[in-house]
Amino acid sequence: MANIVAIVGRPNVGKSTFFNRLIEKRQAIMDNEPGVTRDRHYGYAEWCGKFFTVIDTGGYATGSDDKFEAEIRKQVKLAIDEASAIIFMVDCRDGVTGFDKEFANVLRTSKKPIFIGANKADTPDKTLLATEFYELGMEAEIYPISAENGSGTGELLDDLIKTF
Ligand code: GDP
Ligand code: MG
Repeated sequence: MANIVAIVGRPNVGKSTFFNRLIEKRQAIMDNEPGVTRDRHYGYAEWCGKFFTVIDTGGYATGSDDKFEAEIRKQVKLAIDEASAIIFMVDCRDGVTGFDKEFANVLRTSKKPIFIGANKADTPDKTLLATEFYELGMEAEIYPISAENGSGTGELLDDLIKTF
């Protein structure tokens, strides 16, 4: 089975930044392929000799909270169906939000391996903030990362590729 990793999470947590870091210059965006949903980007990535497809989810509807929640469910369900592993991205600086909790509730219904990327932990002092996300009550491990400068991302990817 193909290794497919979906990055999910509320807007502005850094999903696309991490996606771009993962696919680097390989530039294999596949969203011009027929049948591929427009609001998701696909790319190829490699870590320690393991190759995988990454899905950057997004394009969430803005508007009422109800609509947003429905959108979350739709996106996450698609990702859960399609992916072999899921990176659930949250923002260390903002801490736990209501939308994070909604994502967590949907993700809990998945049997796929989940890795929580507690992003924007740019400096060592910020990594402590990641522990706040245990409040989400998920079994998934939490990785303080910086999609911007790459710190902590190696640990997450090391564990991620073990699931392939
Ligand atoms: P998305 O909506 O989840 O795809 O989030 P984006 O990747 O578009 O990032 C949202 C904002 O957060 C942008 O201004 C990024 O530059 C910023 N950002 C992303 N990753 C990091 C990070 O690791 N550290 C910091 N300080 N900012 C980040
Ligand atoms: Mg994005």
